[in-house]
Amino acid sequence: MKVCMVGTGYVGLVSGAGFAETGATVVCADIDATKIAKLRAGEMPIFEPGLDELVARNVAEGRLAFSDDVPTSIANAQVIFIGVGTPMRPDGGADLSAVDAVALAVAQHATRECVLVCKSTVPVGTNVRVKRLVREAPHAVHVVSNPEFLKEGDAVNDFLRPDRIVVGVDPEDQFARDVMARLYHPLCLDRDRIVWMDPASAELTKYVANTMLAMRISFMNEIAALCEKVGADVHQVRLGVGTDARIGPKFLYAGPGYGGSCFPKDVNALVHTGREHGLELDLAVATELVNQRQKGVLFRKLRHHFEGDVRGRRVALWGIAFKPRTDDIRDSAALTLIDALLADGAHVVAHDPEGLDNARARYGDRVELATDPYAAAKDAEALVLVTEWGQYRNPDFERLRTTMRRPLLLDGRNIWSTYQLGQMGFTYEGIGVRAG
Ligand code: NAD
Repeated sequence: MKVCMVGTGYVGLVSGAGFAETGATVVCADIDATKIAKLRAGEMPIFEPGLDELVARNVAEGRLAFSDDVPTSIANAQVIFIGVGTPMRPDGGADLSAVDAVALAVAQHATRECVLVCKSTVPVGTNVRVKRLVREAPHAVHVVSNPEFLKEGDAVNDFLRPDRIVVGVDPEDQFARDVMARLYHPLCLDRDRIVWMDPASAELTKYVANTMLAMRISFMNEIAALCEKVGADVHQVRLGVGTDARIGPKFLYAGPGYGGSCFPKDVNALVHTGREHGLELDLAVATELVNQRQKGVLFRKLRHHFEGDVRGRRVALWGIAFKPRTDDIRDSAALTLIDALLADGAHVVAHDPEGLDNARARYGDRVELATDPYAAAKDAEALVLVTEWGQYRNPDFERLRTTMRRPLLLDGRNIWSTYQLGQMGFTYEGIGVRAG
């Protein structure tokens, strides 16, 4: 099957390489010629565990190629995926201009009956909008909604071993259904994991999933604040509620607020869709409100330790990426903290195993970027743990205590709360937890 993946970012590159791995012939196309040139030279434009081997293998075996010629790539394909970005507009809605551009390109350049699959996260109604854009195409274009649920940091595994595959297709469109079933068959050999539904429900499912996960995080962040007031420990509360099989243990971690390119934009887009239909989605609104407040929690705590004035203080950050195992810093809580520290005149020095290039592109020399975590912490008056990379979980605390100017540890992920850091001479503070 000849597949064209339009948009070669986190979703497009992983999905394109993933389909190639199952035997399809895939061209990943993108208007970013620099990105395509890198890929052709064997360089990964993003960091995602396991992606480089997956890409290299499928390129070597002739199933995966890259192109900045989007029209020709579309012309040669039987199945065209839209994997472009759908960023947040200032009014909270999703910017669909890239999706529209791909649909119009398909209308213009498709050379045969084909299936156009929207993998990007798009608001309800986009399927109808895309259908309208391809109506005049000289060949039949079957439009399908197939939102992607992979998560950065584990994207390759998520794509090749998904919990479920949501496919929204019109009930009467047997052509599209057959193509989608065949395409995903290799990922369903042990059990059929395709959840078939109508396109509007598929579009909405993606937003509901992300908002529900975000809601759990925001709820626990509120509970963490309450724990601090009443002397409870959110770590223990999490264990207490998460062991209830009806609730489950995931996404119950208090922290510095969710970030990344998806949760904030998707919660906002869902709220926006509700408002367009005269509905105020109060829980989604509150989820985002709590998160915005939470994004400031590390700065508030830090300032408190410096009597309200961080000017001239050397503050070290461990972690810039919005979560571990990715280089993606979009909307990360670290950015909120760094921006606030810079605005108040602090000297910021930061380490991240994979996010330094993106941080450099954003901050230039306004932030000192260290390639070694202990070098970042040296002479610091505070060390703030923002992203729970594995290598930060059990650091050499003795080394930190002797090299930091002031032994203040602010743990945004509560990963050090059970260590006896007070006895080791540190001042320790987490988010809603008692120091060990
Ligand atoms: P990204 O920003 O990493 O990549 C988007 C790519 O699309 C870029 O390379 C850009 O150059 C390209 N592009 C933009 N306009 C184009 C056009 N007209 N023609 C061809 N290429 C074009 O984005 P992403 O993180 O991969 O997200 C893509 C979509 O998938 C979004 O809707 C997002 O919400 C959704 N999604 C993302 C994730 C994730 O973890 N990143 C997970 C699930 C779903």
